[in-house]
Amino acid sequence: MSSITFIGLGIMGLPMARNLARSGHDVTGVVRSDRGRARAAEAGLAATDDAVEAAQNADVVITMLPDSPDVRSVVSAIGPHLREGALLIDMSTIDPVATRDIRAEALPGSVAMLDAPVSGGEAGAIDGVLSIMVGGDAADVERARPLFEVMGTTIVHVGPLGSGQVVKAANQLIVAGNIQMVAEAVVFLRAQGADLTSALQVIGGGLAGSTVLERKRQAFLDGSFAPGFRLALHAKDLGIVQNSAAAEGLALPLTAAVTQLVRALVARGDGELDHSALLKLAQELNGMELNGQDGSTHS
Ligand code: NAD
Repeated sequence: MSSITFIGLGIMGLPMARNLARSGHDVTGVVRSDRGRARAAEAGLAATDDAVEAAQNADVVITMLPDSPDVRSVVSAIGPHLREGALLIDMSTIDPVATRDIRAEALPGSVAMLDAPVSGGEAGAIDGVLSIMVGGDAADVERARPLFEVMGTTIVHVGPLGSGQVVKAANQLIVAGNIQMVAEAVVFLRAQGADLTSALQVIGGGLAGSTVLERKRQAFLDGSFAPGFRLALHAKDLGIVQNSAAAEGLALPLTAAVTQLVRALVARGDGELDHSALLKLAQELNGMELNGQDGSTHS
């Protein structure tokens, strides 16, 4: 069993850390507030506000933070204090270039690093069924595998350090595009007066069915967009896609379009809503009010 310090106990990190603790690992969560401490205690985790002290006592440090600057600042602070032979696993979604820079600039050579971003959302984190895309050296991946198997069910070593983030960026463009197309289908169905519940049920059983449609169906039916996955984070991920694509001179036209829609929602103050709120914008573009179950409000 490993001694693990877990930094970033948010929507995803808290249930992931809880599952590790439940499986018998010695997990200490790093918290920044009394509320964070209370949530960690509820989840059965030991908690501290001293990241450096917690990290220097750990075999494995896991970070699950919002963005590249957060990971850079945390790893720069704890890096010099990590044990020889320790393993840092960054499970946040960040820019692959930042991943490689952080390894080179903030970690001593005696510490190993993996990037291991995840897909599967809050429900996947709670149920321990995440998809985990791992970049790094094969021996380090095998060392971390027992931990990954607690948090996820699909664990794939996709290449050297940074490769996990590249695959996650691709994942995020698919998810955003998929949500936008389901949102447009909902607008179309509502305008035609179709019964939305039965329409989405039967669509979900065919080629157009998807995990997005399954997981977001209730949000689309209810017009309730509590996160889940915040639009602000999805805007960040699409920015990563755009930067990486621009560096290669790639044209990704539909990705560009959905990036603009996500940015528009964030710019107008909806960044804290779930990414299923792309439906909100799609409806407004068509003069539809956000409505409840019946799908009949075409104002
Ligand atoms: P979140 O905002 O809910 O959680 C981030 C946590 O990090 C917060 O609790 C915050 O207090 C903490 N934090 C920030 N800086 C810290 C620091 N210096 N020290 C200690 N704690 C710190 O975000 P989330 O939804 O859990 O997402 C985390 C990462 O996982 C992001 O990169 C996101 O893109 C990715 N992700 C999220 C989902 C999802 O569905 N929410 C799914 C897959 C991947």
